Amino acid sequence: MRPGERIHVIGIAGSGAAGVALLMHHAGLLVDGCDADTPSPYTPPLEAAGITILSGHDPAHPAMAGAMVAALDGYAQYGRFADGLLR
Ligand SMILES: [Zn+2]
Repeated sequence: MRPGERIHVIGIAGSGAAGVALLMHHAGLLVDGCDADTPSPYTPPLEAAGITILSGHDPAHPAMAGAMVAALDGYAQYGRFADGLLR
């Protein structure tokens, strides 16, 4: 991906995904994401950076993005949907 491209992170409020999302944001990507369990202790830095965090995933979310990543817990929740997109 290149700076300016949009990426949607499923499970963004988790400890690992939040850090990766922040790194991608600082690398110039347009990051947003969703999580079934938000806010979390890891979401304030994301919100401070201007990253949009949606509560729960909706199949319409990736339509806004050029790419999508899913944290392991996000994949467990939405894996069937993600499989359909990634194959
Ligand atoms: Zn989503």
